[in-house]
Amino acid sequence: MTKKEQIFKGLAASKGIAFGRPFVYSVEAPTYDITNNGDFSSEKEISDYENAISQSVKELNKIFSLAKEKLDDKNLQIFDAQLSFLYDEFLNAKVKDRIARESVPAYQVFTEEIKVLESAILSSGDEYMRERINDINDIKNRVLRNLVKGRLVSKITENSIVIGRNLTPADTILFSNRNMLGIATDLGGINSHVAIIARSLSIPAVVAMHDISIRINRDDYLIIDGYKGVVIKNPEEETIIRYKEQVQKNLEFEAKLVELEKLPSETKDGKTIQLSTNLEFNNEVDYVVTHFGCDVGLYRTEHLFMEIGDFPDEEAQYKQYKFLADHISPGMVTIRTFDIGGDKILPESQKELNPFLGWRGIRICLDKNDMFKAQLRAILRASTGGNLKIMFPMISSVDEVVRIREIFEAAKSELRAAKIRFDENIKIGIMIEIPSAVLLAEELAELVDFFSIGTNDLVQYTLAVDRDSSLVCELYDKFNPAVLRLIKMLTDAAEKHNVPVSVCGEMASDPYGSLLLIGLGVKELSVESKSYLQIKRLIRLVNYENASKIAARVLKMSTSKEITDYIEECFNKNIGEKLKSYDN
Ligand code: PEP
Ligand code: MG
Repeated sequence: MTKKEQIFKGLAASKGIAFGRPFVYSVEAPTYDITNNGDFSSEKEISDYENAISQSVKELNKIFSLAKEKLDDKNLQIFDAQLSFLYDEFLNAKVKDRIARESVPAYQVFTEEIKVLESAILSSGDEYMRERINDINDIKNRVLRNLVKGRLVSKITENSIVIGRNLTPADTILFSNRNMLGIATDLGGINSHVAIIARSLSIPAVVAMHDISIRINRDDYLIIDGYKGVVIKNPEEETIIRYKEQVQKNLEFEAKLVELEKLPSETKDGKTIQLSTNLEFNNEVDYVVTHFGCDVGLYRTEHLFMEIGDFPDEEAQYKQYKFLADHISPGMVTIRTFDIGGDKILPESQKELNPFLGWRGIRICLDKNDMFKAQLRAILRASTGGNLKIMFPMISSVDEVVRIREIFEAAKSELRAAKIRFDENIKIGIMIEIPSAVLLAEELAELVDFFSIGTNDLVQYTLAVDRDSSLVCELYDKFNPAVLRLIKMLTDAAEKHNVPVSVCGEMASDPYGSLLLIGLGVKELSVESKSYLQIKRLIRLVNYENASKIAARVLKMSTSKEITDYIEECFNKNIGEKLKSYDN
């Protein structure tokens, strides 16, 4: 019997179309594939179990040392208790004994033993012990995750579309090394870091699908449409043909865009808008250099941290930054210091109730002085070619910038004392992504060389809407007049103090968004590489005077609907037809 075609809708998070079989990924309770188990070996299972325990101990020790800097003794006990659980000789001996005697996989035995323990605790009636169930659950997931890690990666075969409840940025990076063709998740928003990473890796993604993770089976066949935000399960022949034609059309459209590569990024009336690209991974570098030859307006460094699960040392960072500086030269590269926290966490990070309002970005860097200084030294050492800039994320106050500058000066003095060369004129800038930074822009302008607006966070923090939440994604709206007025306040303050302003958030990669940003006085847009040519096309179709008039009118409007209707109207009148492609 042929399977019936079904269509599931979500939010389009990363453009592209992919065809393939699903890999259903579960973080909370990793699935153990019993069919993989023809060659069962109890020695291997026991050694896998021991490794999983020692890896979990390692992770928890790291959490413990991070936590020590942040928590009082009472709260530290949680980690102590979790560690002692991992050292529980009785439990470990029992698990290993059962694996050997019953020839049952470690995954299964451990899950069963934890269940026994949980039932005993639940029936004990002891309130304190009941509370420990959460800790035990945490530990269980950690150990199971470490147990299945190897299998998990190897199971992502070619043509896999990863389906999951949610993916962390680390998962996304990990899976992208394994030919992941597409992503569809129950949770997430279009500006979550997973979505951003998917876009920069050109992996089609659909998020906020509510329950896709339980609706897809491994023997289904899928089409993922990252333009419209749909996943088609077991498509009919006709649908497949239609989508294949669409892919062909998109390729032709992209081929046409290539003509723009060497043309200047200037408006119809001759105003230059500097167009740069955001960059995250080394495998994008060659493409950027050959096709765009542009500056890198935002180099996110978090992945260096995520890949190894720790802060890389100065030497490793130096090599990476030097590689970028050398390859992008004569283009400039703006390196952003670690923006860890929020959703960019590793298992080592401590849990917070509101991570986006918590220990994130510059706050961590200022607390972990040595780590921060090592990053600054590495960037400075790599700056001898004169084409690096440094940018600091999550700035909310003047004090932070004052402290940054002290540490920055200290890093420079150390290098001078050791006679290590660096660019004495290197520019430093800050991200404007918290409303307080807009309100303090005039004071901040005295302390830095440039501003870069991070619209992804500015929208989130202005509207109090979690950029990752599928429940409130409708409220996450970059065209909310409050956001646009803040951007205008910022460009006005910056102009007064002669400080250049760029935008490196996703709004710059959106045709409506970039039109407005140009009109609001932004002179540099740093966009995802996938949108680079399309935005260049837009810039070349726009009249600067008109864009300013459009923005001025928009600033008087009070609803986002009014604003988007009006921009749509302007588009249709002037530029829409010429920009048209499948996704417009
Ligand atoms: C932003 O907030 O717009 C930004 C560019 O930073 P990130 O998306 O990495 O938080
Ligand atoms: Mg940000």
